[in-house]
Amino acid sequence: MNDLQSRIKDRLQAAHHVLITTHIRPDGDAIGSSLALGLALLDAGKQVQVVLPDGIPSSFGHLPGADLICTRAVGDFDLIISVDCSDLERVGRALDGYHAPDIIIDHHITNDPFGTLNLVEPEAVATASVLTRHMAEWGLPITEPIAANLITGLITDTLGFRTANTTPETLRQAADLLDLGVNMGLLYYLSLVRRTYVEAKYWGAGLSSLEREDGIIWATLTTVDRLASDYKGKDDADLINVISSIDDANVAIIFVEQDAGKTKVSWRSLKPDIDVSQLACQFGGGGHKAAAGAEVNGTLAEVKERVLGATHESLKNLY
Ligand code: 5GP
Ligand code: MN
Repeated sequence: MNDLQSRIKDRLQAAHHVLITTHIRPDGDAIGSSLALGLALLDAGKQVQVVLPDGIPSSFGHLPGADLICTRAVGDFDLIISVDCSDLERVGRALDGYHAPDIIIDHHITNDPFGTLNLVEPEAVATASVLTRHMAEWGLPITEPIAANLITGLITDTLGFRTANTTPETLRQAADLLDLGVNMGLLYYLSLVRRTYVEAKYWGAGLSSLEREDGIIWATLTTVDRLASDYKGKDDADLINVISSIDDANVAIIFVEQDAGKTKVSWRSLKPDIDVSQLACQFGGGGHKAAAGAEVNGTLAEVKERVLGATHESLKNLY
């Protein structure tokens, strides 16, 4: 075990009260990784709070350990851990009044190491994969409820084992988690396939806004679209994954209007040689080569103009 691993193990073993948090607008890997680590530390006799300021999205309410989640931290902690989060700003309000994380566990290539002990493995498909690799060496056995959370992280971040970074190790890890008795088909359906009627209506609004120019396709979701479809989230309801299946384009982008003059932007590279994480970094965001995002100050119209301009510029030399 290397020095970083043994220091992480020591901190985990010595802790009594642990706060675990992740990024705002948490996805399946963020929640699965938080709950997997939370349940393992609970099994090891620690007190655990998983702090998600916006609560758990209803689509992940089925995950074991969801009752560990609270919207605000209460009390003192001798260990603060952030999972699947690339920078302190993306932790949001979860750590208001608390110190920066003692341990961060992540897989974002754009990670700004904001913890004391920073375990970042950018080639891992998911933070859940980093945890599956290391939990046993930290003295944290993986039980069936923990495996259900880990496999949810693997499934969601690889879009069902089909992203280009999926490796034989990813599938071996999934097989090991299946050996623990998880119902992968059901977890796959619950986390990746099922949709509500409201989400489909919201997608409809986004799809009807679809535009294309010079190999870039983009869709726009406004506050009015959310009200009209009764969609309660402030995200794109994964519409980006729908438009990413459009074959005759190089980059897909979604713009989602936020409160206070901000716009959430998601980029997906539709070709292996296009790295969209660099584009997201230009706008203060981050992510991975094939999938990246940023929350940008400015109205929808302003942000669209700047982002589309920069995306055109970055593709100009490639095609
Ligand atoms: P999405 O576009 O689906 O929100 O996110 C795609 C990827 O980009 C994810 O890995 C996510 O963590 C990252 N990402 C999305 N938004 C932001 C952001 O505002 N800042 C940073 N640093 N990363 C982001
Ligand atoms: Mn992730």
